[in-house]
Amino acid sequence: MNIPEIFGSLVFNDRVMKERLPEDTYNKLKKSIEDGDALTFEIASVVASAMKDWAIEKGATHYTHWFQPLTGVTAEKHDSFITPKGHDEIIMEFSGKELIKGEPDASSFPSGGIRATFEARGYTSWDPTSYAFIKDNTLCIPTAFYSYGGEALDKKTPLLRSVEEINKQAMRIVRLFGDTEAKNVRVTVGPEQEYFLIDKDLYEKRKDLMYTGRTILGAKPPKGQEMDDHYFGAIKPRVAAFMKELDEELWKLGVLAKTEHNEAAPAQHELAPIYSDVNLATDHNQITMEVMKKTAAKHNLVCLLHEKPFLGVNGSGKHNNWSISTDTGINLLEPGKLPQTNLRFLLILSAVIKAVDEYQDLLRITVASAGNDHRLGAAEAPPAIVSMFLGDQLLGILESIEKHAEYDEEAKMNMEVGVHVLPTFQKDTTDRNRTSPFAFTGNKFEFRMPGSSFSIAGPNTILNTIVAEELEQFANELEASEDDDFGRAVRRIIRRTYREHRRIIFNGNNYSEEWKEEAKKRGLSNYPSTPEAIPHFADEKNVALFTKHNIYTKREITSRCEIILENYCKTVNIEALTMIDMVRKEVLPAVTKYTAKLSEGALEKKRLIVGISCKTEIGLVKKLSRLTDELYEKVDFLEKALERVTAMEGDIAQKATAYREEIVEPMAKLRTVADEIESNVSENIWPYPTYCDLLFRI
Ligand code: ADP
Ligand code: MG
Repeated sequence: MNIPEIFGSLVFNDRVMKERLPEDTYNKLKKSIEDGDALTFEIASVVASAMKDWAIEKGATHYTHWFQPLTGVTAEKHDSFITPKGHDEIIMEFSGKELIKGEPDASSFPSGGIRATFEARGYTSWDPTSYAFIKDNTLCIPTAFYSYGGEALDKKTPLLRSVEEINKQAMRIVRLFGDTEAKNVRVTVGPEQEYFLIDKDLYEKRKDLMYTGRTILGAKPPKGQEMDDHYFGAIKPRVAAFMKELDEELWKLGVLAKTEHNEAAPAQHELAPIYSDVNLATDHNQITMEVMKKTAAKHNLVCLLHEKPFLGVNGSGKHNNWSISTDTGINLLEPGKLPQTNLRFLLILSAVIKAVDEYQDLLRITVASAGNDHRLGAAEAPPAIVSMFLGDQLLGILESIEKHAEYDEEAKMNMEVGVHVLPTFQKDTTDRNRTSPFAFTGNKFEFRMPGSSFSIAGPNTILNTIVAEELEQFANELEASEDDDFGRAVRRIIRRTYREHRRIIFNGNNYSEEWKEEAKKRGLSNYPSTPEAIPHFADEKNVALFTKHNIYTKREITSRCEIILENYCKTVNIEALTMIDMVRKEVLPAVTKYTAKLSEGALEKKRLIVGISCKTEIGLVKKLSRLTDELYEKVDFLEKALERVTAMEGDIAQKATAYREEIVEPMAKLRTVADEIESNVSENIWPYPTYCDLLFRI
C-alpha cells in the first residue's frame, strides 16, 4: 500500500480544491476562510459543482450536512444527488444553496427548550474551515447547527466563536511583543483516544454492555492490571489487524493517526493523532470514534468508548493536548532554551494559570457526565479537583520572579542514563506527572479529564474562552501601561498572577488523600459528581464571561445545563432498569436453580451413604441463600426508589441529584452482592461471560 497516495484520498482538501477549482474561485475561497468572511453565493455554486464531480468520481451517490448536535454523536441526513430531467431521465446535481445551507428535520434533537415545536426549525450551515469528505458513498459536509433565532444547537458553533476570540486577544499580545509578521494565532490540539476492544459474540451475551456500554455486574478476575504487562505490551494479532485497518481508513479520511499502543488495562488501547487546528482536530476525533466502532465490527469486535466499562481496571479518557501558535509557526507555549528570559512565554503561561484558577469550575463542568463520574477521582484518573502541574523548572522561574531574584540556571540538570553509548540529553523541562488533571508537557498543556466518549469541542471551547479572557485583561493593562520599561510591566503581571493564583499549581500526587485535604485548605472547588457540577455552569461569573465573549448566550447556557442533566437522568435510569432486569430475569433464576440442584445432590448423597456430612453442599446452599435473599431485597429497594425518582416532576437539577443519591448508591450496593454471588457459583451456571472472558480471551 502506498500510504502517501491513500492519505486524504477521500477528502476534498486544499490540494484537490487547487486542482479542481478555477484559480479565481480558489483564491476567493481561501481568502474568505482565512479572513473569516462570509462566502458569496457564486463562489459556493462553483465549489459545490466541483465537489459533486469529485465525489461522484469517488463513487459517492449521496451528500449530507454532517453536524454535531448536543446528543454526543454526529448526525447526518442523506440526500441523493439525483434531479429529474424530463420524464424518465435524471442528472446528478448539487447546488451552491445545498452546499451552504440545510434544513434537516431535526426537531427531535435536544435543544433544552430553545426550540418550542412551533419554531422547531433548525438550520445547518457549511463550515468551510473543515474539509468535506466521503464516508460510505456519501459526501459529508461539515456544518454548524443552529435555531431559527440563530442560537447554537451544536458543539461546533461555540467552538468556532471561541477560536475567533482567542485569536483576537492573543494577537494583541503578539503585537505588544513587537511581532508585526504574524497574521493570526491558531489553537492546536492533539486528542489521545483511549478505548477497549472486546469480542462481539461475548458482548452480545451481556445486556448491560448492549444497553449501557459498560458492565453493571461482574466480579473481578484474579488478575487485573497489577502486573503492568499489558501497558505498551506486544499487540495481539487480532487487535493488530484491527489497528492496521483503522489506520488505513483514517488516513484515507485525512486523519493523522500516528501512534497505536496498548494501555494500562487488559484489552485497553490508545490512538494518538498528530495535532492539528482545533476545529479540524474536533471533527477528526468524531470521525475517529465512528471509524473505530465500524472497523471493530468488521473484525467481530466491539469498541467500547465508555469511560468506565469495567470496575477494578482503569477507565478510558481522552487527553486533550492544547497549545496556541502563530500562523508563522511560533508555538507561544514553547519555553525555549532559557525560559527565564522568555517573557512572552511566561506571560502567556501566566494567563493560563490565572484562567485555570479562576475558572476551575468550568473545566470540571465541561467533563461532567454519568460515565465520567465513575472515572474521575477513582485513583486511576485525575481527581474531580482541578489543579495544574508545571514541573520544577517553571515553578522555580516563577518563584524567582516573584521574589525579584535571579533564576539559578544550574538547577537545570543533565540527564545521565548511566550507559555511555547513549547520548546525554537535557532533562525535559517537565517530568511526567501522570496524576495531574492539567499538566504542562514541554510546549503544550495536556488536559486529562475529558472522558473517552466526549466530543472535545466542549473542553476546547472553555479553554479558548478562559485563556482569551485573561489575555484580554493582560493586553488591556499593557496597552494602557505608562511604564517606559515594557519588560518590567510584563514581569509585574507575571509576579502578581503567580502570587494570586499559585494555589492552583500542584506538582505532587493528585491521587493521594492528602491532596484532597490540601486542596480544601487552598479553597479549590471540588464537585465529585455531575449533578453537583453542572448547575454552576450558569453561575453569574460564568454567564458574564460567556456573554462578554459571545460564546454562549444566557439561554444557550441554561439550555445546555438542562440537556446535560436530562442526559444524566436518562443514563442512570437506563442503567438501573438494566440492572433490575438482569438480576430478576437472569441472575436470581440461575442461582436459585443452582442451589436447588446442590440441595438435591446433598439429599441424594445422604440417601446413598448413611451418615455422610455434605458439609460443602450445605455450606454453599446456606451462603448462597443468604446472598440471594439480600440480592432480592436490594433489587426491590432499587426498584421502589426508581419508581419514586422517575415520578419526580419539576426541577431537573433536583431530579439529577435524586438519581445520584437514591439510585447510583443503591446500584453500587446491589452490585457488591451480585459480584459476591458470582464469585461463589460454578462458572457454567453464571448467565454472562465473565471479566476473564471479556478482558483476557481476545
Ligand atoms: P503522551 O502519551 O506522552 O502524552 P503522545 O505522544 O501520545 O504523548 O501524545 C502527545 C499528543 O500531543 C499528540 O497527539 C501530539 O500530536 C500532541 N501535540 C504535540 N505538540 C502539540 C502542540 N503544539 N499542540 C497541540 N498538540 C500537540
Ligand atoms: Mg498523554
